[in-house]
Amino acid sequence: MFLLLVLASLGLSAFFLIRGSQTLDSGVAPQGYTLVIDPGHGGIDGGAISDNGTKESDINLAIAVKLRALAELIGQPFVMTRTDDSSRSSYADYSEHEDLVQRVKLVNDTPGAVLVSIHQNDFPTSQPSGAQVLYARDADSESLGKRTHHNLIQCLDPQNRRVAEPAPRALYLTANVSCPAILVECGFMSNNFEVEKLNDPKYQCSIALVLTGSLLQFFDEIEMV
Ligand SMILES: [Zn+2]
Repeated sequence: MFLLLVLASLGLSAFFLIRGSQTLDSGVAPQGYTLVIDPGHGGIDGGAISDNGTKESDINLAIAVKLRALAELIGQPFVMTRTDDSSRSSYADYSEHEDLVQRVKLVNDTPGAVLVSIHQNDFPTSQPSGAQVLYARDADSESLGKRTHHNLIQCLDPQNRRVAEPAPRALYLTANVSCPAILVECGFMSNNFEVEKLNDPKYQCSIALVLTGSLLQFFDEIEMV
């Protein structure tokens, strides 16, 4: 209910700006693809921590849960790599590598997977801000990544001059999955102003809307090929 209220208050403007003239009941979610929603980090691994103690893992999960709600709303099949503050490696002998191996296994075991991994950025100084999308090194991932990055800027942050980039080869997740895959850095944990926005449920919802609209555009594109 909360999400629907937020959607109503946002007027779905970002969604329809991206989606164009099509409506929510026009069969928007194609069959055959399963969205894998990956809230980065979790459990003992909080990811980047802001000055006020906000954990990246909590923001990642909050956005992921809203993306899940939108996937349900449009009938898009999905799985999540985690649904609470836990990791995919055992707590007792936590290993970041093992956690990532388990996430990759889930993605590669999911037929028709499309991966959206949600993270936040971090930097030694507080100035940098803005979303940036990294994409796996194949044509479909590049298309989804550039589209998502463009939409995030157009809808949420027109001043953002960052560009979408291929994910570094050393990034285990994107380097080892065998499906279209993007990693969305929604903002900087090292920028207190941005952390305030990222903690706002309405802003989290706006990000989830943009991710959803971008996925639907991407599905339209690959369905037409
Ligand atoms: Zn992260």
